[in-house]
Amino acid sequence: MEVAPLLKSSASAAATLFNSAEAKFALRVSSSLVSCRRIGFGRQNASFLWPVLFSRPLTCDGSGSKRRARGPVMAAAKKASDGGSKEEGKYKHTVDLPKTTFGMRANAVVREPEIQKLWEENQVFKRVSDRNTGRSFVLHDGPPYANGSLHMGHALNKILKDIINRYKLLRNYRVNFVPGWDCHGLPIELKVLQSMDEETRRELKPLKLREKAAKFAKNTVNIQMNSFKRFGVWADWDAPYLTLFPEYEAAQIEVFGNMALKGYIYRGRKPVHWSPSSRTALAEAELEYPEGHISKSIYATFKIINASSASPQLFEEFLPDLYLAIWTTTPWTIPANAAVAINPELEYVVAELHHAPEDATVSLRKQTKAGSFLKFSDTKRFVIVASELVPALESKWEVKFAVRKIFPGSSLENFRYAHPISGKECPVVLGGDYITTESGTGLVHTAPGHGQEDYITGLKYGLPIISPVDDEGKFTEEAGEFNGQEVLGAGNVAIVKYLDEQLSLVLEEPYKHKYPYDWRTKKPTIFRATEQWFASVDGFRDMAMDAIGKVNWIPTQAKNRIVAMTSSRSDWCISRQRTWGVPIPVFYHVHSKEPLITEETIAHVRDIVSKKGSDAWWYMSTEDLLPEKYRQNASEYYKGTDTMDVWFDSGSSWAAVLGKRDGLCFPADLYLEGSDQHRGWFQSSLLTSIATTGIAPYSCVVTHGFVLDEKGMKMSKSLGNVVDPDVVISGGKNTKDQPGYGADVLRLWVSSVDYTGDVLIGPQILRQMSDMYRKLRGTLRFLLSNLHDWNLENTVPYSKLPKIDQYALYQLGNIVETIKDSYELYQFYKIYQIIQRFTIVDLSNFYLDVAKDRLYVGGTTSLNRRSCQTVLAEHLISIVSVIAPILPHLAEDVWQNLPFEYATEDGSAAKFAFELKWPVPNKRWLQIPADDVDFWRLILELRSEVNKILENARVGKLIGSSLEAKVYLHSSDAGVASRLQELCHAENEADALHRIFITSQVAVLDSLNTDLSSRMPHTGKFSDPRSEIWIGVDRADGSKCERCWNFTPQVGSFPEHPTLCARCYDVINVHPLPAAAGVS
Ligand SMILES: [Zn+2]
Repeated sequence: MEVAPLLKSSASAAATLFNSAEAKFALRVSSSLVSCRRIGFGRQNASFLWPVLFSRPLTCDGSGSKRRARGPVMAAAKKASDGGSKEEGKYKHTVDLPKTTFGMRANAVVREPEIQKLWEENQVFKRVSDRNTGRSFVLHDGPPYANGSLHMGHALNKILKDIINRYKLLRNYRVNFVPGWDCHGLPIELKVLQSMDEETRRELKPLKLREKAAKFAKNTVNIQMNSFKRFGVWADWDAPYLTLFPEYEAAQIEVFGNMALKGYIYRGRKPVHWSPSSRTALAEAELEYPEGHISKSIYATFKIINASSASPQLFEEFLPDLYLAIWTTTPWTIPANAAVAINPELEYVVAELHHAPEDATVSLRKQTKAGSFLKFSDTKRFVIVASELVPALESKWEVKFAVRKIFPGSSLENFRYAHPISGKECPVVLGGDYITTESGTGLVHTAPGHGQEDYITGLKYGLPIISPVDDEGKFTEEAGEFNGQEVLGAGNVAIVKYLDEQLSLVLEEPYKHKYPYDWRTKKPTIFRATEQWFASVDGFRDMAMDAIGKVNWIPTQAKNRIVAMTSSRSDWCISRQRTWGVPIPVFYHVHSKEPLITEETIAHVRDIVSKKGSDAWWYMSTEDLLPEKYRQNASEYYKGTDTMDVWFDSGSSWAAVLGKRDGLCFPADLYLEGSDQHRGWFQSSLLTSIATTGIAPYSCVVTHGFVLDEKGMKMSKSLGNVVDPDVVISGGKNTKDQPGYGADVLRLWVSSVDYTGDVLIGPQILRQMSDMYRKLRGTLRFLLSNLHDWNLENTVPYSKLPKIDQYALYQLGNIVETIKDSYELYQFYKIYQIIQRFTIVDLSNFYLDVAKDRLYVGGTTSLNRRSCQTVLAEHLISIVSVIAPILPHLAEDVWQNLPFEYATEDGSAAKFAFELKWPVPNKRWLQIPADDVDFWRLILELRSEVNKILENARVGKLIGSSLEAKVYLHSSDAGVASRLQELCHAENEADALHRIFITSQVAVLDSLNTDLSSRMPHTGKFSDPRSEIWIGVDRADGSKCERCWNFTPQVGSFPEHPTLCARCYDVINVHPLPAAAGVS
């Protein structure tokens, strides 16, 4: 690894060079061209500038920047440039030093905003998209909620989208990315309410609240938009979609209307998740299930009073002391009890209760509290429970059960018991599979007004839907003496106490389980029957399931999630009792309360809203809101006050955006959001689209995981492990701990993670990303700086390139193809890995390492140097293109410092990196015979082995730099030997083996006699299945050339230039010394 350590320009760079193993290798290469190889570390013999620069190709702009002058190496360089040795600098004018204006450091905090301004001023996104000739690619943005600042999840999401869009731009697609925001809903309403005092809140009119909420949402949109822009995300920022825009609201009302007219919308009294703290119904997606919720669970008994007519004698012997035993975690629902359900497939028993023997084990009753039912004396008591649960209940209740009768559940149907509070007669009914023997008694207290399964069982038996609980979660008058008490507080306690007093309570026990909480207020919810509007998912479920099968889900297991969630979801409650939202556009008859919803009413309201916004629903009279046809009877109607679930808002975006804007299409090519959207936006969009159009709104859906901290913990303020994207980019208060890395480092991180699962980020990971970024930047800087005198006319035709160059292009071509495939599959982490391995390790370690000799001393216009520059230019253009979607700022920074003009397909100069098209490797690059490819791989492996022996020779003080060495090779395989031999005498000098090894000479021996091998100071072996090669290292023959430091016996044979080798002599003759050279 050579380039990497040299990137560090501060004082620590020198230390790194000296200390790390990598640095030793770096030193070897440096010293190969530097006679005073201890330069900067020991003997400060820095008598000339250019050798130092050789070893430090990435600090080579010669501009003498203050930063570079800091380290000891650079200090030496500076000293040299101020006036080095006259004698040794004789040929320095003939050396092609690298030069570039491209900064070694990104300085991203300053530079990235400059680049973004350049893009904005030149409308680069639009310009590139408009000029592209391919079809359009539509990634439809899922709207983030306009509430608060952005977190890392937003950054991951939007940057992934931007990487895809930018890649598609390079692939000649037209890309119109319309960013969106979700603006209605309770959280914003609550923020507005919380900002007021009690009195203002009481006086608040809906329109005032809506005005304040809209203002809040729009402000937040602006704040979030600026952050997104700073991430480098390209979008149509001037024309985003906001769910509060009149045209959006109108489109949403149209979707609602279409569904209603197709019969998919109905009003019903059904139990829904209700949040007393928010006073509204909630959708499944608005619930969370925090750990550690504890309910007060009870076992209670209901007295049997009448036998079923089907089996009147069944329990005769036990009456009147026979009880049904039930268990519930919500005692407050007992007033709403309408039945007890049993599972007909289970076996039940009648058991007589006995006290446990006095001498039995000590009571385990710590948390449980026995009720009055267990405090019997001589009365007989019989209970009905599921047979399987007898042992568990004996132990829990601390009693003995004497089983007196066993019978199937089905025979219990239609027995009657007395309601424990009202005393009314209620039936035993047959429930379903939801009645199990995992807990409880096997008999289920059924309150159809307070539970989904109870509701369905209730429908089957025509049970009353009782729900004596109001919006605030308090008992109503219907609950009699409990009126006014909170069901989740005092009301619950009062019910338990009441049951105990009525001798119905068996046992009270705290019970830990998953319980739904309101995700916004973080308070528990209840299940409660209310009049609500529903979308009948059953009506179009089959169509939805069909459509899911046609969508491409990435990762593939995401399909299972959406299938499971869509197949099991119940009807969608879409009404909310709030103010900040789109109204449910329905009128009700004053007397009958019958809703009025027709094609005309929908169209009329839609037209009004599209012009005036949904505020009109509140400020216009019912008469004006009704279409002509109904206006005469306006006094018979009143307008509804419900608003729509915000998931209906965002779920209509396909209709409001894809269907309405130029340059977009329906269905979209891609939706990309977090995995929680399987029950959120992916699903609500699917349902509304299927119900109205019959097809899914997307062809492909990509999901990503959540962002966790470095240890895999959820980020939270209390843990102090929150990584803020704005801080990552611009730096924190303490820039030492929180440096500003810039957007590209953040984007590099996004590319590096396998986002299909949860992803990690933290200071350590960011440092790694920053390191990788700097190395990549260094490689690009090397390429740029060695092309300073290049233009495309200098390009050497492929057939004339040395083999090493052809092989380099072969590798490049393969890399570009592999990266393309990974982009197509949205597997960016593979691209990250390839770029890391290729540009930072492979390229720097070999091709660029070897290239320095040719580039610096090969002769400015020589074929050797120009062919190398041809290869460098291809690499530069290709690397810039393939990294541009991920690192757009870096790519543009390179492009703005490009030393030559690069024309696009139509012949005009590419002024911006994104005016490039995706690189298409020349077919000939990839057509190197397999045999040759194999041989080059062998050479590279052999080279690593040779390097190890050179290192031994250096440690053993035989040589200083590798150029002081001669390498001897012997292979017993005649084929390999002859190919090595060929390389020693390569037609093109760039292919010569000693250049590849960066030594002065290489000899391939026909035979290996013991004499030679025994006097060889350093030897080693390279072996692989293809061949075994013996390696020897000794000092090079001849003397050192003053200009290139290669050793050769030729030095001294040219009278005019007695210190030069033949190569340098030729270069000097083609490229004569300036008159003043040598005396300056
Ligand atoms: Zn030379």
